[in-house]
Amino acid sequence: MTREPRIAVVGGGMAGARFAERYGALGGHGSVTVYGAEPRAPYNRVLLADVLTGRYDAESIALPLGGAEPRPGCEVLAFDPEARTLGLADGTVEPWDELVLATGSNPVLPPVRGLRRPDGQGLAEGVHTLRTLEDCGRLAEEAVGAKRAVVIGGGVLGVSAARALAALGVRTEIVHQGPHLVERQLDHEAAAVLRERLLALGVECYPGNRARAVHGGMGGPPAGGWGRVGAVELANGYRLDCDLVVLACGTRPRTALAYGAGLPVGTGVLVDDGLATPAPHVSAIGDCAEHRGIVHGLAGPAWEQADVLARRLSGADPDARYTGSRPRARLSTGDLEYAAFGAVDETLDPGLDVLRITDATRGSYKKLVLRGDRLVGAILLGDLATVDALAGAWESDGPLGGHPLHLITRGVLR
Ligand SMILES: Cc1cc2nc3c(=O)[nH]c(=O)nc-3n(C[C@H](O)[C@H](O)[C@H](O)COP(=O)(O)OP(=O)(O)OC[C@H]3O[C@@H](n4cnc5c(N)ncnc54)[C@H](O)[C@@H]3O)c2cc1C
Repeated sequence: MTREPRIAVVGGGMAGARFAERYGALGGHGSVTVYGAEPRAPYNRVLLADVLTGRYDAESIALPLGGAEPRPGCEVLAFDPEARTLGLADGTVEPWDELVLATGSNPVLPPVRGLRRPDGQGLAEGVHTLRTLEDCGRLAEEAVGAKRAVVIGGGVLGVSAARALAALGVRTEIVHQGPHLVERQLDHEAAAVLRERLLALGVECYPGNRARAVHGGMGGPPAGGWGRVGAVELANGYRLDCDLVVLACGTRPRTALAYGAGLPVGTGVLVDDGLATPAPHVSAIGDCAEHRGIVHGLAGPAWEQADVLARRLSGADPDARYTGSRPRARLSTGDLEYAAFGAVDETLDPGLDVLRITDATRGSYKKLVLRGDRLVGAILLGDLATVDALAGAWESDGPLGGHPLHLITRGVLR
């Protein structure tokens, strides 16, 4: 009688949980263990800003694991690809037959003076990252007594964190180095509408500005040692007083474990179309993985990779291949919503046409990018009523079969 394969998933985040759930649902015969460094079972990280505002609690964002065994609070310190063992932080060594690395990513700390404590042990008082439920809890506690916050970084994370802090009654400002908010997903016009929406919610934005230093309270010099944070200094010399700082400057894949085991690492852990590393029976998915030169850092691609790997390892489709993810993003926090997918910058290709509707009164913006009668990209902000129809048309890649206006006017012109 053959023993069931032992599948070790390192990382109890969105990719690891999705893999475990899909593997079970597809009838995989192995026993799956999900080792997670965080003190709780996997949860939907995308909803953390909504936990901050109190819209969801920690329990309601838990992710299903199928029949897998969760091992929260269990950090993996090393693995041996030849002996096929894991070394855990408590000193125990555990065997595996298949290893799935899903270690995610860490927040990037920008080169800003005064971010760290003078002894180098962690961030200065009042300076936060937002990556885990524990981060969220600490930030929520401090937000109670805070009056003004500065969020450094105006991407999707910075915008959702700022909106959440404003909803908690904290006057919030976003300092963003890029030319406009969320420039990876939105065009200039959409970002302008987003900025107006944020202003109405109590969030002021300063795009095109770089934070240079964080100062201590009561006008003290930078670099800490003077109690909690008191101001953020911009590169142009301007100071924003604040008693909270949130860093939202992107993430970096957690690759130390793979690197330590001798696996090839670029920006992320290098994987092929089967999500396999060159080490036999070792795969990587999610924010930690680099596939065809791309590290996505987004939940959608992490789940697509987890789905492919689950199909391959469960035996449901041993030849399953991941060939990449089409660019697709969605922010939905409270009443601030946008979706963007496909090619949204028509200036890069003279063969593209654009259909755009801006409704300044209602704070909405809709843009379709078309090649002939096909939809190749879209941005919707403020009114997502037609998002499913648009996404369907984009995914099918077929002719639209009517005037494209009907796709952004809720059928009124049909
Ligand atoms: C506040 C917030 C909002 C976001 N909003 C969006 C959004 O709107 N849209 C979107 O697409 N994406 C969003 N993201 C990004 C999205 O959450 C990530 O892309 C996704 O979580 C990646 O999943 P992952 O499993 O690869 O990594 P993670 O979810 O980060 O999970 C990795 C897990 O591995 C654990 N781990 C690491 N090393 C070890 C080890 N050695 N031993 C044991 N455990 C280990 C970590 O503790 C962590 O729990 C957001 C992220 C944040 C923080």
